[in-house]
Amino acid sequence: MSENNFNYSVEQFADLQILRYKVHGFDSLTLNQKKLIYYLSEAALNGRDILFDQNGKYNLKIRRLLEAVYVHYDGDRSDSEFQAFEVYLKRVWFSSGIHHHYSTDKFIPGFSVDFLRDAVMSLDKSQLPLSDGETVVGLCNELFPVIFDPDVMPKRVNQADGEDLLLTSASNYYEGVTQQEAEDFYAAMKSPDDETPVMYGMNSRLEKKDGKLTEVVWKIDGEYCNAISKIVYWLEKAMNLAENEQQKEVIRLLIEFYRTGDLKIFDDYSICWLKDTESRIDFVNGFIESYGDPLGMKASWESIVNFKDLKATYRTEVLSSNAQWFEDYSPVSSQFKKSEVKGVSAKVITAAILAGDLYPASAIGINLPNSNWIRSVHGSKSVTIGNLTDAYNKAAKGNGFRDEFVYSEHEKGLLDKYADITGDLHTDLHECLGHGSGKLLPGVDPDALKAYGATIEEARADLFGLYYIPDAKMVELGLIPDSEAYKAEYYSYMMNGLMTQLVRIEPGCCIEESHMRNRQLISAWALEHGADEEVVKLIVKDGKTYVVINDYEKLRSLFGRLLAEIQRIKSEGDYEAARELVEKYAVKVNPKLHSEVLERYKALNLAPYKGFVNPVYSAVTDEHKNIIDVKIDYNEGYTEQMLRYSRDYSNL
Ligand code: ZN
Repeated sequence: MSENNFNYSVEQFADLQILRYKVHGFDSLTLNQKKLIYYLSEAALNGRDILFDQNGKYNLKIRRLLEAVYVHYDGDRSDSEFQAFEVYLKRVWFSSGIHHHYSTDKFIPGFSVDFLRDAVMSLDKSQLPLSDGETVVGLCNELFPVIFDPDVMPKRVNQADGEDLLLTSASNYYEGVTQQEAEDFYAAMKSPDDETPVMYGMNSRLEKKDGKLTEVVWKIDGEYCNAISKIVYWLEKAMNLAENEQQKEVIRLLIEFYRTGDLKIFDDYSICWLKDTESRIDFVNGFIESYGDPLGMKASWESIVNFKDLKATYRTEVLSSNAQWFEDYSPVSSQFKKSEVKGVSAKVITAAILAGDLYPASAIGINLPNSNWIRSVHGSKSVTIGNLTDAYNKAAKGNGFRDEFVYSEHEKGLLDKYADITGDLHTDLHECLGHGSGKLLPGVDPDALKAYGATIEEARADLFGLYYIPDAKMVELGLIPDSEAYKAEYYSYMMNGLMTQLVRIEPGCCIEESHMRNRQLISAWALEHGADEEVVKLIVKDGKTYVVINDYEKLRSLFGRLLAEIQRIKSEGDYEAARELVEKYAVKVNPKLHSEVLERYKALNLAPYKGFVNPVYSAVTDEHKNIIDVKIDYNEGYTEQMLRYSRDYSNL
């Protein structure tokens, strides 16, 4: 596909749209670099089953059952029950499990128990994922309640204040353990004097066996061994092609971590990885994101392989080389600032493969490592993923969204002119400066904010970006064209936070995901605190609600005030204040506005969530099996890709 007829949109079903991203510049890489990407992408794809299992202990078996039916079904495929079944399977692939990837609610099948039972019964036993000695009836009895009964494992990650978050969450990180037991178990490991604490519990499931708590560690010769050995096999090949000694050491340490499960080695690896800023090619492969654990400790598996976008990286280099200036002039109280902001490296990358918790739905920016002490002593590495943002923007052109929700031609003009640029810049500020700014006061437990920590952290990073986008420094550094541009980001941020992000929430539900909570927290707080001066208003015109910003400069000072308070909460570990802010502004939804937004959005027939299919890499070999080229192809469809992955990378 050439640039002109490249199809960014693949297909749409349920509330999901599948896109395709282009790997700009792949063909201009050297053969060595292409081979390195190829090996690392195999290491990425081989971890796929880990996330399915982490997201729920029946997910892999359910996926295999559904795929068997899908592949071997010999009834009428145009029948409405089969069609609903197909949508369900596509959703299971998308979520790496039976719960919605974002809301974490279990999705309700649109087909009947009888349909599935008949379809399963008609298959040959050899086609079904039967355990030793298990009958087909036994299989159905085991899995059907999990699929159909709304009361069985209803939520993957429960965050409801006051409930036992572990017993009520379906994710597979704890087995038979209460929240109190888990909190006590890990509190006993932590010492307040330890200045370099490892990420306790990150790479294991906590189980209760014979009344005793045990960690089942994910490593070679441990849990997930089959997948991890394959990952290591490809990492070893990649190590031989490393671009430099630093990168080689990164891969060596990662392999050692996968072999031992030793969290101290993971810290060594993380430090080594963040210091590797010279390599063109880079990757993440491991247990990284903690959103799937209600306690925020257990890390889901993910991988991304990427290479530096040299041109766009200039933008983030300008930001990071001025990091100290931004820290010094932020509205945060000086006791919470870093006197020396270290190692904020930043780059724009081109994703080459997405896997685990980054596939098919992906973040557009990544800031790692997550360890607090490493971040404050060694800094962090920040990336924005340019080609994914580009695919979102290209696929959204002319879809009617702005016409429906933006107040007037004036705001539409601002967005058309500036929003692509300011959106990217806000992401850069969030990732390169926001997360890396500020410090904890001595002795403050990094987990002091518990379940509210993730929302507060995202709010901190977002506010840092919002506060600085209008700054004269931005124009001076050549990052935005003029002093009006920031208004595009302010408008789209407030519109999203107050209204349009609600399209992702089911009627009657509240907001749970931490990035969404953060956005509503900031915008609802600013709406309320600017109400006397009518800084921001919700206006109803012809029965439709719109966001109107009357005073952009005052809005900036409100963002500054909130940034100072959020940083204080983080720095002091003020749990009560975090709880109050989040519960008051970030969680509850105005039901009337919510249903209006849903109705208007529905009329546009757009999908609120997006994800990507990966390109296909194939190695071209000579007669001695040496790789002489790596080809990239964009023609694989969604179902085709999922079935191929299930066939070729089914390691658990
Ligand atoms: Zn963030």
